[in-house]
Amino acid sequence: MILNRPYVLKTIKKSTPEVTAFTFEAQDGTSIDFVPGMFAMLYYKNQETGESIGRAFSIANAPPSGSLEFLISLVHGKFTSKLDTAKIGDVYYISAPYGQFKFDLNPGTKFLFLAGGTGLAPFFSMLRLSKARSQQIDGVLIYSTKYSDDIIEHEELNQITSELGVKLAVTVTRPKENDTWKGNTGHVNAEMIKKYAPDVVDRISYICGPPAFVNALKQALLSLGVDQKHIKAEMWG
Ligand SMILES: Cc1cc2nc3c(=O)[nH]c(=O)nc-3n(C[C@H](O)[C@H](O)[C@H](O)COP(=O)(O)OP(=O)(O)OC[C@H]3O[C@@H](n4cnc5c(N)ncnc54)[C@H](O)[C@@H]3O)c2cc1C
Repeated sequence: MILNRPYVLKTIKKSTPEVTAFTFEAQDGTSIDFVPGMFAMLYYKNQETGESIGRAFSIANAPPSGSLEFLISLVHGKFTSKLDTAKIGDVYYISAPYGQFKFDLNPGTKFLFLAGGTGLAPFFSMLRLSKARSQQIDGVLIYSTKYSDDIIEHEELNQITSELGVKLAVTVTRPKENDTWKGNTGHVNAEMIKKYAPDVVDRISYICGPPAFVNALKQALLSLGVDQKHIKAEMWG
C-alpha cells in the first residue's frame, strides 16, 4: 500500500472522443502490487492555494507496476477538469491499492464479464495480466457503450480478447444517424446474456459500470437463475 506518493504524468492518449488514457509513474520508482479490479485514489494538488482534490480510478494496467494507467471519461467535473489541461511532467499524488472488486482467475473457472462505459477499465487490468501470464480465460465479455466511436482501446480490446479466448460482444446503446455500426445495439439484458452465455449459471459474473447498469444486470442475472454468491460488482458514475 502506498499513501499520497508523488507520481509524474508520463503519457496522455485520447482513446475515444470521451475517454483518455493517462499513465502516471512513481517519482521514486517504487513498484506497487495489486489485484486487477482494485482502484487508486488520484489527487491533484494546487501548489499555490494548497487545494487538494482526489477521486477514485480503477487501475487499467497489469500488476505489479511502477506506473499506473487510468481510463478516464473527461466529464469536465471538479477533478476531471484538471485533467483537461494536464501536461506531461505534471505531478499528481496517488494512494493505492483499494477495493474489494478483485478478479480471482482460477484456472478451470468460467466467467461472464459485464462492462458499461469506463467500467471496462478493471477488465483491462485483468486481461493484460492474463496476457502477461499467457493464461487463457473461459470468459464472455459483454461491453456496453453509448456510441460506436466510443469503444475504449478498440484495437487492443479485439486483439487481447481473441488471443485469450474470451468471447467479446459489444453493444452500442445510442447509435447515431448514419452510423456504420453493424453489431449489437441496445442495453444489455437477460436475453443478450443468454445469447452469448447460455451456460451463465455455471459462470462467475463480474459487473462494473454506472449504478443503473449494475443494478439492472444483477437483476437480469438473478432472473436467469445465477446464484447471488457468483455475482461480483463495482459501480460509479
Ligand atoms: C471505485 C471507483 C472507480 C472509478 N473508476 C473510474 C474509472 O476508471 N474511470 C472514470 O472515468 N471514472 C472512474 N470513477 C469515477 C471518478 O472517481 C469520478 O467520480 C469521475 O471522474 C468524475 O469526477 P469529477 O470530479 O470530474 O466530477 P464531479 O465534479 O464529481 O461531478 C460532475 C458531474 O459529472 C457527473 N459524473 C460523474 N462521474 C461521471 C461519469 N463517470 N460519467 C458521466 N458523468 C459523470 C456527476 O454526476 C456530476 O453531474 C470511479 C469511481 C469509483 C468510486
